[in-house]
Amino acid sequence: IAAIAAAGLMLAACGSAEKTVDQQSGSSGDVLVGVTMPTRSSERWIHDGDNIKKALEEKGYKVDLQYAENDIPTQANQLENQITKGAKLLIVASIDGTAITSQLQQAQDADIPVIAYDRLLRNTDSVDYYATFDNFKVGVQQATSLLTGLNVIKADGTPGDAKGPLNVELFAGSPDDNNATFFFNGAMSVLQPHIDKGTLVVKSGQTDFKTVAILRWDPATAQKRMEDLLTSTYGGDKVHGVLSPYDGLSIGILSALKSSGYGTSGNPYPIVTGQDAEVASVKSIIAGEQYSTIYKDTRELAATTVKMADAVLKGGKPEVNNEKDYDNGKKVVPSYLLESVIVDKGNYQKVLVDSGYYTADQLK
Ligand code: BGC
Repeated sequence: IAAIAAAGLMLAACGSAEKTVDQQSGSSGDVLVGVTMPTRSSERWIHDGDNIKKALEEKGYKVDLQYAENDIPTQANQLENQITKGAKLLIVASIDGTAITSQLQQAQDADIPVIAYDRLLRNTDSVDYYATFDNFKVGVQQATSLLTGLNVIKADGTPGDAKGPLNVELFAGSPDDNNATFFFNGAMSVLQPHIDKGTLVVKSGQTDFKTVAILRWDPATAQKRMEDLLTSTYGGDKVHGVLSPYDGLSIGILSALKSSGYGTSGNPYPIVTGQDAEVASVKSIIAGEQYSTIYKDTRELAATTVKMADAVLKGGKPEVNNEKDYDNGKKVVPSYLLESVIVDKGNYQKVLVDSGYYTADQLK
């Protein structure tokens, strides 16, 4: 009874007006933070949203968490609503990094700080900080695991037994997502020397970012492109490796390969990479289909972002570790970059299960 009475008192004390953070006591009061995520169609963003909300609530903030199902006008509306509702800070994982500049300007005009989450907000002054992974390095890791899978290099980086020529095809992410270029450039920094030497051959000739990019990271588009490549380029030939920047695309790519007869003991799947360590892809790795993925601990990213948000809301300066790489066209956005890890059949247990990211049951 005492607890119920206390809860009642707290509710009464909260009132309806939004308050700013009490700078003396450091209490978050009922300060509202707006969080916008791109889509629920990929698991990672669900984890991100849940983790951010939980961590903010633990610090006493109120949270408005919204998903836009990859629809830009929906995300723009969500931001406008959050500004109208009196949010004191916005955490934004954008769909298109340049499409919400007018909403961000509104936030700036209302003195609402903005943190770009995972994806950079581009061509705008109205972004204060950026929390993400080292995106160039993610690409380097994807290409490195492609090379290890193909046995062009060994796990320790020394030359492997495969001398080529090996046929590979390249995929990139959504052209409106700044990360996609970083991933691709990182990957090409590793692959290009092997293409130049002739160890790797991109048989379709499609090596240009714009040609290989998959709008909105759509698995069906990737599947269609892989089907088209198999028909146009691989009549009698085999594809040995596919650079895929995201698990969802890898699933589409593998399904195109399967329809074309790959995935049997006499005709194994090519080495296919990925990103995000999504459950379906980790299962596929365990089953020997997808070769690898890149694990980005979304718990860490959420924690870093919430720490940033809390510091900003309390009038302080958050910790950053990179003030040079993320020029958004208007400013270099002070950033905090986290590290990612290559995951394959050999280490998924240690990296994903022993760390508590997944339970063994989830991967069965
Ligand atoms: C993220 C990746 C993700 C991709 C597709 C990128 O911006 O950094 O982790 O695979 O979007 O959702």
